[in-house]
Order: sequence, then C-alpha cells, then structure tokens
Amino acid sequence: MAKLTLNSVGKSFDGTPALADITAEIADGEFVALLGPSGCGKSTLLRLLAGFEHPSTGQIHIGPQEVANADTGHMQPPEARNIGFVFQSYALWPHMNVRRNIGYPLEVRGVPRAERSRRIDAALEATALGPYADRMPSDLSGGQRQRVALARCLVTDPTAVLLDEPLANLDVALRASMQAVFSDFHHRTGATMVYVTHDQAEAMAMADRIAVMEAGRIVQFDTPERLYARPQNRFVAGFIGEGSVVPVSDPKPTEDGAEVTLLDRRIRVKSDCAAPTLSCLRPENITLGEAGALRARVERCTYLGGQYRLGLRTTDGAELMARSPARHAPGEQLGLTLSTPWAFAET
Ligand code: ATP
Repeated sequence: MAKLTLNSVGKSFDGTPALADITAEIADGEFVALLGPSGCGKSTLLRLLAGFEHPSTGQIHIGPQEVANADTGHMQPPEARNIGFVFQSYALWPHMNVRRNIGYPLEVRGVPRAERSRRIDAALEATALGPYADRMPSDLSGGQRQRVALARCLVTDPTAVLLDEPLANLDVALRASMQAVFSDFHHRTGATMVYVTHDQAEAMAMADRIAVMEAGRIVQFDTPERLYARPQNRFVAGFIGEGSVVPVSDPKPTEDGAEVTLLDRRIRVKSDCAAPTLSCLRPENITLGEAGALRARVERCTYLGGQYRLGLRTTDGAELMARSPARHAPGEQLGLTLSTPWAFAET
C-alpha cells in the first residue's frame, strides 16, 4: 500500500475545466471519500489517479513514484500502477464463476496455479464469499456481485483501491450492510482506499477523512467530525449535515471564538477566527421552550422516528431547523434559545 499525492492537479476537457488546483495527500492505509454534488469532478479525480485520464496541470505520485506529470508529459499507464478499481456496474465476466472471476487478474499475470488458489481463498474469506465460490454472477444478488468485484481487487494486492459509487445500484438496506463490508475490508487489508460518493451518510459512515468538492475544487478535506462541527465555508456548512447558515456581525473575540450579533441578539459562538461573518446553526444548537427570547413560527413538522424535525422561520425571516420530542402544528409560535454555534469567516 502507498500514499497518494496530488500536486496542483487540474483537468480540462476541450478547454473547459473539470478540476482545478487539486493539492492533497492521502496517507498510506487511509480511507478517503470524495464527496460532492453531481458534476463537481469526483470521478475525474479518481480516473486521474487510476491513469484513465491525463492531467492538464500538476503531478501525481503513488508512493515515491511519479505516475503523471503534465509538464513533462510523463504518464504511467493504468496497468503499471497496480491499482484496484471497483465500479458501480461490477464489471464481472458473466461466463466465469465467482472463483474464476476473482482469480482472473492473476491468470492474466501468469501467477502459478497453487499461489493463485491460495490468494483466491484469502480473498473469498475476506469478503465472506466462500459459500458462493462456484456460483455464476447471474445467480448472485447485487451486494454479492459487488463483493466479488472487491475480492477481485484484493487478489492483486493493489497499492490502492479506487471505488466509484460502488453502492449506487443497491437498495437502502443493502447499502447499509455493504458499508460494513467495505469498512471490514479496509480494516482487514489496511488498503489505501479512495471512495467516490454523493451520499454524505455513506461517506460519514466509512471514511477516515472526506474531501468535499465543489465545482472542480476541494473546498475542505477533513475528518467527518470536523466537517460537521467546524465547517470552514458556506458550501460545506450547507452541504454537510442539517442546519442553517446565518450571518453574524460585530464580533468581539473571546477565548474560543467571539461574541457576535446573530438575529439581533448578542451570543457567543465558537470559531477559529477572530472575526467570523457566518454561523452554522445545527438542530442541536436550538432549544425550544416558551422562555426562549427568539420567536419562530413552525413551517414544517416531519416525523423522524422517536422525534420530529421542525422547519422554523424566525420573526426576522431566518429559516432554522430544530428537533423536538413532540409534534408541533404548522403555524404554531415557539420560543427558541440558541447555544454556542460554530462560526467562520466567509472566503
Ligand atoms: P457524478 O456524481 O454525476 O458522477 P462527478 O462529480 O463524478 O459527477 P465528473 O464525472 O468528474 O463529475 O465530471 C466533472 C465535469 O467534467 C462535468 O462537468 C463533466 O461533464 C465533465 N466531464 C467529465 N468527463 C468528461 C469527458 N470525457 N469529456 C468532456 N467533459 C467531461
């Protein structure tokens, strides 16, 4: 396994930029998710790492080895990079059983039969596919087929495994159980994994770090916890988790943030900058009760199982999101108390 390094990588298609100035390091053995809306460049970044595309600018290293350099034109082809790739479409050979599908990359490389058999058995075990070894792909469920694709990656002992929305074709229940399979695979193998998804719950559940992408750039590359608790810009604050982005003004620095004016009230915010301009109000920052100084009208009430999600509009017109153990009818007036939200400076 190896670390992956991208240095000022950009990619344009017919002069239109799809990726710009991507500088990032993915540590050896790390599980990284590339997360962002459709068209933000996730798949293009993955394809550059795999060697299916040439970068227009910058350099890419896998371990110590340079695999692409836009300045010199150096480009190591995909087959020389020893990278595993798992697609949404599984890409299994329909006429080969599970065992042969998994062992096929070794067959192509001329690995002797005994060694091949040993590595196939290990991959079958790692993906819990032992009982299905003799089945044909057509006799497997979607989740089982995706496990075959994963096992086929594993046998080649790849430097890194790249996964492009591998669960997009599966239903919700199966996606959840496959997330456990991927996490387990990662723990067992220690593989460096880069996982493309536009599903934040999936990224949060599995990744050590998430690169949030917008319009061809990485806008924050951080742990799931930090992305949620300490977003650094408006896009991440709005995209990750639930909540509202509300302007703040007149900051007066405090030990761990600032005292600011938010919705006409002076409150404390947590921040890593002295002069934040926006705050990210999560449902957990909002307590409902008659005593609350801030007033809001209930606009929507959705049952989540065990609690309700409330869409609220304050008298100043701000939209907020809160949680409540009780149902509240649209139109009802509630009092709110705000507890120290996170705030950041707009860039
Ligand atoms: P999705 O989640 O919808 O798969 P994505 O984030 O993976 O999207 P990419 O597929 O990387 O996005 O595409 C990024 C941009 O580059 C898009 O505007 C897309 O139209 C463009 N693009 C990607 N591949 C090509 C290509 N071969 N030729 C021209 N434009 C391309």
